[in-house]
Amino acid sequence: MDKKEIKEQYLKKISLVNKYNKYYYDNNKPLVNDKVYDDLKNNILLLEKKYSFLKSKQSPSETVGYKPSKSFKKALHRTPMLSLANAFSEEDLLNFEKRIINFISEKSNFKISYSAEPKIDGISASLTYKDGNLIKGLSRGDGKEGEDITANILTIKDIPKKILKKNFPEEIDIRGEVFIQNSDFQVLKEKFANPRNAASGSLRQKNPDDTSKIPLKFIAYTFGYEKGLKVENQSKYLEKLNEWGFKTNPLNKLITGVKNLLINYSEIEKKRSEIDFDIDGIVYKIDDFKLQKRLGNVANAPRWAIAHKFSSNKGVSVIKNIEIQIGRTGALTPVAKIKPINIGGVLVSNATLHNEDEIDRKDIRIGDTVTVERAGDVIPHILSVDLKKRSKDIKKFIFPKDCPSCGSKTIKEFNILTKKKDAVRRCTSEGYECEKITIEKLKHFVSKEALNIDGFGKKIVENFYEFKFIKLPQDIFKLDFKKIEKLDGWGRLSVENLRYAINEKKNISIERLIYSLGIRHIGLENAKLISKHFKSFSKFKALSKTEKYNELLNIDGIGETQVNSIKIFFSKKINLDVLNQLSEILDIKDVTEDNKNGKLKNKTFMITGKLNGISRAEVKSLIEENTGTVVSSVSKKLNYLIIGEKPTKRKMEAAKNLKIITLDQKQFLTLLNKTS
Ligand code: NAD
Repeated sequence: MDKKEIKEQYLKKISLVNKYNKYYYDNNKPLVNDKVYDDLKNNILLLEKKYSFLKSKQSPSETVGYKPSKSFKKALHRTPMLSLANAFSEEDLLNFEKRIINFISEKSNFKISYSAEPKIDGISASLTYKDGNLIKGLSRGDGKEGEDITANILTIKDIPKKILKKNFPEEIDIRGEVFIQNSDFQVLKEKFANPRNAASGSLRQKNPDDTSKIPLKFIAYTFGYEKGLKVENQSKYLEKLNEWGFKTNPLNKLITGVKNLLINYSEIEKKRSEIDFDIDGIVYKIDDFKLQKRLGNVANAPRWAIAHKFSSNKGVSVIKNIEIQIGRTGALTPVAKIKPINIGGVLVSNATLHNEDEIDRKDIRIGDTVTVERAGDVIPHILSVDLKKRSKDIKKFIFPKDCPSCGSKTIKEFNILTKKKDAVRRCTSEGYECEKITIEKLKHFVSKEALNIDGFGKKIVENFYEFKFIKLPQDIFKLDFKKIEKLDGWGRLSVENLRYAINEKKNISIERLIYSLGIRHIGLENAKLISKHFKSFSKFKALSKTEKYNELLNIDGIGETQVNSIKIFFSKKINLDVLNQLSEILDIKDVTEDNKNGKLKNKTFMITGKLNGISRAEVKSLIEENTGTVVSSVSKKLNYLIIGEKPTKRKMEAAKNLKIITLDQKQFLTLLNKTS
């Protein structure tokens, strides 16, 4: 890469970081998790180190937070509100201490005392007091200029509005963290990814009445401008804050030497889940204010402090309970309910335990202290148990032998391929006797790839089942909408929308219907093969009488596993009742002879972005019904790119370069003479 290309890449990364900053700081809705953000930021910093010609005022090495929002009045900070440098390892800490000792020209054995303060993951605020009265509250903003959030700050009970103590400075900006406790966050977790976003979103409400409804807390830890502060070090300042009526962190400690910082770090990391607020590391500040002053700041952070961050993909917590979830096909999946812990910006309270064998192998028990891993988008899981922390009275976890939902026997099936018993235990009820399986089957029935009933989500299935509105798939078409209208959260319009969405899906292809039934081992592809074989739903249904199951083995792609599963399905009277009723209610389209000359013959399609009211699976089957083909990459062979909401930029650009025709959803449906 030449100089120009390197600069281009560098500026591109900076503009991406700034986009992430906007979503994180201004909108409180991060676009990516903290690990992705931190990796990008580190990448920029490494580039700057490697190539001295790379410089930008917008670089994360120069900036703090994000500029104040237009929704608030702006105000300058009398002393800038900075960010903190980060440390992730012992080596980082040793380097930090070395840099300080070099800066002040001391000997390598010079002893430094640090105020070690758990780093609360909230949003910082600066409170201006004059003659003991709170007169202004600002957010950090971009460090130089903050948002005037005085009215919102006044609603926070932890913040003293008037301080009458004699030793309180004539004028001072008290700074600290506004945050929300994990227990209070539980009610807001639908709206925000983590307590930090929730605190920021709540504190920066346009209407202070909305802020007052959220139980925000405040912990003080530093100051900005001051006149008349007579304190010499950070630990004494923290004591003074308490005297003046501010809350400080009870886990703050005065520590000397990197070794002792590390001991404290691992002790607090283990305690994290016991604390009812989110901490994402520990801040170490040189205790002596004179030394702090000598060291001063770099562009966006003080030289005398560093944040020792916790891992962004692992955390230590305690198992509160082990619950058994039952899936649509009867699989019993154990899930550990853990004390909530923030891993990489996401509050984790569940971790999968996979199956019975996994629990046995790792000897995981309720009450254990465990390390939880959350890497990428994978479901969090338990990495290991800290046996030293296990108390004697903790009993081994006994996996239930009967289904916790319906009490049926559970089994581990013998796998013909591996010649071993499956690791997964299953409930043996195959019809609709098991409540949990039934609910999962109903969720599957209305899901995107199946009937795709718009707006009929998982929560609605659970609610309607609980109210006994639905028990079997056919009940969805017999709903009493008057009763629904009386439920909390439902109005005439939403009920009308639901009625319309359900009616719309009464026209259905046989393959979609077979898939919707949720027969084990019969996914979309197998449902297609079976539909092509039988051509009509009545012929498929007649299997229960003809019992010619072995004939199914002639279908290319269908094996013994699928045949056995279909056999079991038809052996249950309830399943036959469901089939009969559905075929009376629905208008099921038979499979017509392969239409080799469809409207889209020899044409290839690709979809990018979210479509409205129609799933990708449905679009794919529409294309295939009309003898078109769906491909998975943009190349010269692609004829049409269908574009939904938030399409992938890369695909759009590639299509533009290759001059490929793009269609929006409406244009695509017009191509098929359908309207959306
Ligand atoms: P920071 O959170 O790493 O550190 C500075 C902040 O620490 C201070 O502003 C203060 O609010 C807080 N703090 C808590 N306790 C403190 C104490 N005792 N003393 C001093 N400060 C204390 O810095 P930052 O610049 O606000 O944010 C960077 C963090 O935000 C990173 O973890 C990053 O991953 C995350 N982030 C994520 C995204 C995303 O898109 N996911 C975007 C931007 C930032």
